[in-house]
Amino acid sequence: MLTIGCHLSSSGGFLAMGKAAASIGANTFQFFTRNPRGGAARALNPDDVAAFLSFAGENGIGPIIAHAPYTLNACAGKPSVLTFARETMADDLLRMESVPGNLYNFHPGSHVGQGIARGTELIAETLNEVLRPEFHTTVLLETMAGKGSEVGSRFEELAAIIDGVRLNDRVGVCLDTCHVYDAGYDIVDRLDEVLEAFDSVLGLDRLKAVHLNDSKNPFASHRDRHEVIGGGSIGTAAVGRILTHPALRGLPFCLETPNDLSGYAEEIRLLKKIYEEDPSCPN
Ligand code: FE
Ligand code: FE
Ligand code: ZN
Repeated sequence: MLTIGCHLSSSGGFLAMGKAAASIGANTFQFFTRNPRGGAARALNPDDVAAFLSFAGENGIGPIIAHAPYTLNACAGKPSVLTFARETMADDLLRMESVPGNLYNFHPGSHVGQGIARGTELIAETLNEVLRPEFHTTVLLETMAGKGSEVGSRFEELAAIIDGVRLNDRVGVCLDTCHVYDAGYDIVDRLDEVLEAFDSVLGLDRLKAVHLNDSKNPFASHRDRHEVIGGGSIGTAAVGRILTHPALRGLPFCLETPNDLSGYAEEIRLLKKIYEEDPSCPN
């Protein structure tokens, strides 16, 4: 069974996202926990959450992926910026308890001149401050393209962060196809080798979700500009090999391509067809 969906606007609440997902043939989705540039989160409406949970149960939707604001920097050098990141993540994780058992994805951060080692150490400390044993959410470090001083474009950097987290059974990785390709992992011509490297450095059991995106830029460009599936340097065939790879079976695949809802519906139709036509994939 393929778990596939796309990024959706959270402005209408949880039930609206669940219905939008179902309307385009998706059984997962991603949403920003608050304005992607930060700021206060809207209060959760318990009736909306309850209606969503029953709709999701009836329609086989989940797990879903919450995405932290991308301005949040969990390894900021400036104390006020670091405190903001930690308070925001702690608040997001508390809110996630209303939809337990799901995923919370964040960009590890930018070390802004402090160096990768200090960056990974601060990100681990951030996770040590915000994770609580009673929480029911798996927190995902997203693989990054390595633009600027981004931490997390090498699997070793993600492993260093995870090693420093006490409750690291709650921590996983989300592999973004655009980001890893831009970072210099050749998922087009050497997918097996990339997955073997992931397994030896992080362990494939840490991989909890995949962001499916094509890339506007060439291999190892360290840029991070998403493209529609088949419109970029990765291409539909390589995306299909990722979607149907036995090592990635059962993971939620989430599109973050530049699309409106009907564009996402089209991509989901195409990807489901690729999956269903692959004789090795279970239905
Ligand atoms: Fe992201
Ligand atoms: Fe992503
Ligand atoms: Zn991106």
